[in-house]
Amino acid sequence: RWAAACGPRRALLAAPRSFCAGVERAIEIVERALDQYGPPVYVRKQIVHNLHVVRDLEARGAVFVDELDEVPEGAVTVFSAHGVAPGVRDEAAARGLRVIDATCPLVTKVHAEARRFAARGDLVALIGHAGHEEVEGTMGEIPGSVVLVEDVADVARLPEGRRVSYLTQTTLAVDEAADIAAAIRRRFPDAEGPQKDDICYATTNRQHAVRDVAEGSDLVLVVGSANSSNSRRLAEVAGRAAPAYLVDGPGDIALDWLAGARTVGLTAGASAPPALVDAVVAALGGLGPVTVEERRVAEETIRFTLPKEVRTR
Ligand code: SF4
Repeated sequence: RWAAACGPRRALLAAPRSFCAGVERAIEIVERALDQYGPPVYVRKQIVHNLHVVRDLEARGAVFVDELDEVPEGAVTVFSAHGVAPGVRDEAAARGLRVIDATCPLVTKVHAEARRFAARGDLVALIGHAGHEEVEGTMGEIPGSVVLVEDVADVARLPEGRRVSYLTQTTLAVDEAADIAAAIRRRFPDAEGPQKDDICYATTNRQHAVRDVAEGSDLVLVVGSANSSNSRRLAEVAGRAAPAYLVDGPGDIALDWLAGARTVGLTAGASAPPALVDAVVAALGGLGPVTVEERRVAEETIRFTLPKEVRTR
């Protein structure tokens, strides 16, 4: 197996890949909170869905909890990039927690759209995945006015009698979400969607880039954690053109995948650190000479400002 996996190969790097502006901001918020307030800094849920990021911050004094009742009264507490329902904010206030909100501004935008549609009496069809923290937060903004739509079949189950509007989770597959939105508009021709696509720029760019790379690859490796929605979508999109696997790092790569794979496409989800892609390239280099090429489909210059609680050091 070792011999079959060896040989010269080309690594095709999709660009953009890896951290987005929302993830960079969320990680920086925890780092600055640790600097300014000292450990422990509590973080509700994983700050972003990546094992390495979470372990690294844990080693520096962050304490990740599932729910706020695990946080001592008055402690510094960060809300994750995926956002929270208003009930969580209320609970934090009631317990006197010192909250720093790392919700990505592009998720906050979806919450605002949800409130706008619900305030005018609409039933909001939220296109997304059950159980994802972002979906729980968005649905929590408008209880009684929202129905989760996971696929085209769910559209037929939407009730009649109210004006329908729709929104999406930020990290869906662009084309699948478009199909579901089209099905909603076919059934409810007056249905209004978001002013601008809810699927964020980072998700969209990473999907375009990996599709481009996958078409010229024998194998695609997507660096990301299994609970990362945008990383899983990257593996799905790539998998339409070439065998594609989601790996948390080089240790997850099976030698069998590499047999005969002369061109390996590489990308990383928006929550996966760039150093992990370097580590995967280095691991491939252990099996023979690697030439590295990058295929860029978009430039990303977007940056978000930090919350006031951590703006000064
Ligand atoms: Fe924000 Fe998009 Fe990054 Fe999520 S993937 S944190 S919505 S920029």
